[in-house]
Amino acid sequence: MQLHADIETRVAAIQGQYTDWPCRLGCDGCCKNLAAIPELSAPEWGLLREGLAALPADELNDLAGQLDALAQNPATPIQCPLLDRSNGACRVYAHRPLACRSYGFYLERGVGLYCKAIETRVDCGDFSEVIWGNQEALDRRSREWGVRHTLTEWFNAWLAAGFLGIPPDSSPMT
Ligand code: SF4
Ligand code: SF4
Repeated sequence: MQLHADIETRVAAIQGQYTDWPCRLGCDGCCKNLAAIPELSAPEWGLLREGLAALPADELNDLAGQLDALAQNPATPIQCPLLDRSNGACRVYAHRPLACRSYGFYLERGVGLYCKAIETRVDCGDFSEVIWGNQEALDRRSREWGVRHTLTEWFNAWLAAGFLGIPPDSSPMT
């Protein structure tokens, strides 16, 4: 997806300038403190589903259980069910949604909403020369992807359709 490629370009530029940038596979502070169940557009779900389809059946069953528990009790902060709690790594890192790719690198103009790990570095002046990505522009572009549904809704529709029975470019939502 072009938008993901553009994000990767921005991320690579920032990480190239700051080789100790904290965002990486295994840094899970944001994944453990979600304000809501993740929401995805159809293109994001299509990509994520490729990652899910590669997971072992026991992990998918575990995920189904976690999403069910979340639906019963969506108390915040939410720990993302796609997080591998044993090592703090995202189980679908290469296929993760846009918000996960951009969170540590994009800001709304004039509004610094950082995770704690980044806020600490900003406060001590480490990142004063960073050219952050433009969150407003990202939001504008991603709206072109259409309606968003929660991970739970996408996953349950996929489950109901028999997992791998859906072509990657079709929507399980009716
Ligand atoms: S946004 Fe913060 S918690 Fe999330 S990966 Fe980046 S540094 Fe880690
Ligand atoms: S999808 Fe992956 S990167 Fe995104 S919040 Fe969940 S565990 Fe973290």
